[in-house]
Amino acid sequence: MIDFSLTPEQEAIQRTARDFAQKEIAPAAQQYDRSGEYPQEIVKKAFQAGLVYGPVPEEYGGGGLGQLDQLIVAEELSAGCAGISTCIAINSLAAIPLIDRGSEEQKKRILGGACRDEKLIALCVTEPEAGSDVAAISTRARRRNGEYVISGNKCFITGGGVADYYIVFATVDPSRGHRGITAFVVPRGAEGLSVGKKENKMGQRAADTTDVIFDEVVVPAADRIGEEGEGFRIIMQTFNRSRPGVAISAVGVARAALDYALRYSLERGQFGAPIFMQQSVMFMLADMARDITAGRLLAWKAAWKVEQGLDNSAEAAMAKVFCGDMVMRVTTDAVQVYGGYGYVKDYPVEKLMRDAKVFQIYEGTSQVQRLLIGRALAKKVAR
Ligand SMILES: Cc1cc2nc3c(=O)[nH]c(=O)nc-3n(C[C@H](O)[C@H](O)[C@H](O)COP(=O)(O)OP(=O)(O)OC[C@H]3O[C@@H](n4cnc5c(N)ncnc54)[C@H](O)[C@@H]3O)c2cc1C
Repeated sequence: MIDFSLTPEQEAIQRTARDFAQKEIAPAAQQYDRSGEYPQEIVKKAFQAGLVYGPVPEEYGGGGLGQLDQLIVAEELSAGCAGISTCIAINSLAAIPLIDRGSEEQKKRILGGACRDEKLIALCVTEPEAGSDVAAISTRARRRNGEYVISGNKCFITGGGVADYYIVFATVDPSRGHRGITAFVVPRGAEGLSVGKKENKMGQRAADTTDVIFDEVVVPAADRIGEEGEGFRIIMQTFNRSRPGVAISAVGVARAALDYALRYSLERGQFGAPIFMQQSVMFMLADMARDITAGRLLAWKAAWKVEQGLDNSAEAAMAKVFCGDMVMRVTTDAVQVYGGYGYVKDYPVEKLMRDAKVFQIYEGTSQVQRLLIGRALAKKVAR
């Protein structure tokens, strides 16, 4: 059965997210882009509007949203500003390991506390020497008297400077390769945990991106998520669930770029007519609309498979790589439609082009997504 219509509940969620994006996010987008400050007040309002922790089950105080519902929210918020929407979305993304593999006690304490007290969560995977090669992480978790002692450096951590909880991946035994990787949750005040350099980024500048340093941080065994050695699988499952959301955020940014470019093309006159009437401009806009629609459908399918309990790793990678490349193309073309005005900061599309680039990088680069798709194809043939 194929049905592309939204339910009345989904339409209501979409309206709430769209209103929030239009009233709270979009008007502040340029200011936060310029300053690079974290939009604390907007995130607070997002909590009050029920837009943070959508995927956390209602019994722990979250929104209890399904995968497709979350995509509807993410597209709307990102159309307002990708940097600010990332500040909101990262918490749900970082909560996935706890939702999927947390103990009942962890869910009540950490997810329940985060929803109730408006606490933030960050996901710490990447290290200076382990980016695409997640299995190469070297942060160590040594067992000591029934506890773990964690040491290592994480980098590029979204929300690193503001998080109240860090989901951190470390190896209990480097000789076991990816089978040694284990997940933990560490609170902000833990002794030995510090926040390092904040990155001065090209785009999505409202999102706080920092190093997080673990120096002999003692973590009780009760704060391990899942079993020892289960961390790599938890990371991959988290990415399978989060990549459709990242893809749809790219759709949101591309949609905003098309919206601006279309309006501009109808207003801007050259050679005695709106530039929209030039076929080469009209076709650029037509291609944008086509690719945005295709990207949305890929993201929806990848999310739908999660809801059906099916393996979505190939579809998640397809959605992520298609939408990452698509948003770069669409925002670049939006700048082109604006001509010289597109290249200056007085107009909105140059920010969108800068915001777009990271969709080809974070949550696994476009090259890594192609690797994942290739491996899935090879598996099919081997079967
Ligand atoms: C703004 C931002 C926010 C981020 N947020 C987080 C976060 O919250 N938590 C977190 O843990 N991480 C986060 N990251 C890290 C991000 O996931 C990594 O940057 C990304 O996975 C790439 O790793 P790298 O930067 O080390 O690049 P590298 O892995 O060094 O890759 C460099 C280049 O080589 C290519 N390459 C590498 N290996 C292969 C291969 N096998 N085949 C083909 N090409 C390859 C890559 O595609 C890329 O083009 C964030 C990054 C950014 C920029």
